[in-house]
Amino acid sequence: FNVPAPVNEPVLNYGPRSVERAALKAALTEARSQQLDIPMYIGNEQVRTGKTFEIRPPHDHKHVLATYHEGDASHVEAAITAALAAKDAWENLAWEDRAAIFLKAADLIAGPYRARINAATMLGQSKNAYQAEIDSACELIDFLRFNVHFMTEIYQQQPQSAKGIWNRLEYRPLEGFVFAITPFNFTAIAGNLCAAPALMGNVVVWKPAPTQIYAANVIMQVFLEAGLPAGVVNLIYTDGPVAGDVIFRHPEFAGLHFTGSTGVFQNLWKTIGENIHLYKSYPRIVGETGGKDFVLAHPSADIDVLNVALLRGAFEYQGQKCSAASRAYIPQSLWPALQEKLVAEMATFKVGPVEDFENFINAVIDERSFDKLAKYIDNAMADPDVEVVSGGTYDKSQGWFITPTVLRVQDPFYVTMCEELFGPVLTVYVYEDQEFDKMLEIIEKTGKYALTGSIIAQDRYAVSKATHGLRNAAGNFYVNDKPTGAVVGQQPFGGARGSGTNDKAGSMLNLLRWVSPRTIKETF
Ligand code: GLU
Repeated sequence: FNVPAPVNEPVLNYGPRSVERAALKAALTEARSQQLDIPMYIGNEQVRTGKTFEIRPPHDHKHVLATYHEGDASHVEAAITAALAAKDAWENLAWEDRAAIFLKAADLIAGPYRARINAATMLGQSKNAYQAEIDSACELIDFLRFNVHFMTEIYQQQPQSAKGIWNRLEYRPLEGFVFAITPFNFTAIAGNLCAAPALMGNVVVWKPAPTQIYAANVIMQVFLEAGLPAGVVNLIYTDGPVAGDVIFRHPEFAGLHFTGSTGVFQNLWKTIGENIHLYKSYPRIVGETGGKDFVLAHPSADIDVLNVALLRGAFEYQGQKCSAASRAYIPQSLWPALQEKLVAEMATFKVGPVEDFENFINAVIDERSFDKLAKYIDNAMADPDVEVVSGGTYDKSQGWFITPTVLRVQDPFYVTMCEELFGPVLTVYVYEDQEFDKMLEIIEKTGKYALTGSIIAQDRYAVSKATHGLRNAAGNFYVNDKPTGAVVGQQPFGGARGSGTNDKAGSMLNLLRWVSPRTIKETF
């Protein structure tokens, strides 16, 4: 299989006076002035229903950035019809032709669309330039390029033949259509939840989170400019239940590719189960859901490594990553020095809108998230057993700003040690140094989620003990690093328990879910 060898896209740095920063600033200004009116994309039509909703930057909620058109059940039907109409031609296209489209899409993002897609992610999702660059540029480009390589890896998995017999596996797409439900927090994930099944020959109905429609619109334009035939990916905006009622009762529903909350995923799974008799085949259900990701420090930890792992793991993109460090177990012997470093560093964090490139912390995604986080913080402030080490304030006058917050609790099962908050709040439990094994047991045995986690230790016995002792607690386990920032092709990403089906995005394991192989035995 002759495909371009995939290489991770280098991260541009957008330093002051760089041409990259100038281009990005120009794209931000243009996006702000455009007042886009964003349609749905169904078959070869751009659909405007007239039922419009506003999109506002989370860090500047008085400004209307764009509007989008919401659909109803008839648009969901139309999207399925368009997908099924495109299916035959698409799945019979040679794999090289499908691959070429997604490789071209990657090149378009790496080049002419880079500033635009990053600006869209910055404004629509309140990511700073670096967070946008590693997401909507680098990770999305990597998904698109590496997927082609993973596809060829899959196609090469072939059975043995025998004398007079030629056995082969043909990697057919699923029979029917795939439904992609994508989250606000990563533009790359949105692109990949559609691109991965489509590359394998499937057709897709795509429903993004409303808070991601602004960037989804750019992804769709890239796909179309790269030559994706109409109907292969259909982008619709409706309420979840409106789409679900049509999609999950459709006999051709063949798979769900989901990233979002655990509760929603469980409900969708139930609905699919209730309707299972309606479908032609058992649908593929692939989901990446919540996380309550840990950093466990051993007394031998390098304190600077620990400090960086916590600060970057907990607060980059305001903690709105499924992988974000949100609970830490710190030995008593390290805590005073660590606390001092954490507090000093957090005092230097700049908080504000994305257009000021100095701001490290931007807004959380929306009012609902802001209110939820404010409530957790208020409850913690009112609890005599909780110490607010840093932060604890919030301000929604301009945007949904939550000050990065560190709480220290007395109870390792305190609510913010267990529940997913999805915001810039880190909860610390300080343990007696000799209780390291007990911490391993708590983390391994009691976690509802199992997405990511880190051990920070210089003692190799401690590293080894944690690696073994925490084997079910995290699908992505990091040694002396933050628990975020998995790179496509390097750290396949996903977890079990309440965190998902662990079908490892960024590896061939994910793409394998989007094929329904046929075994062919030919006798001579
Ligand atoms: N893959 C991302 C990371 O490793 C997290 C994805 C997510 O938040 O869903 O940080």
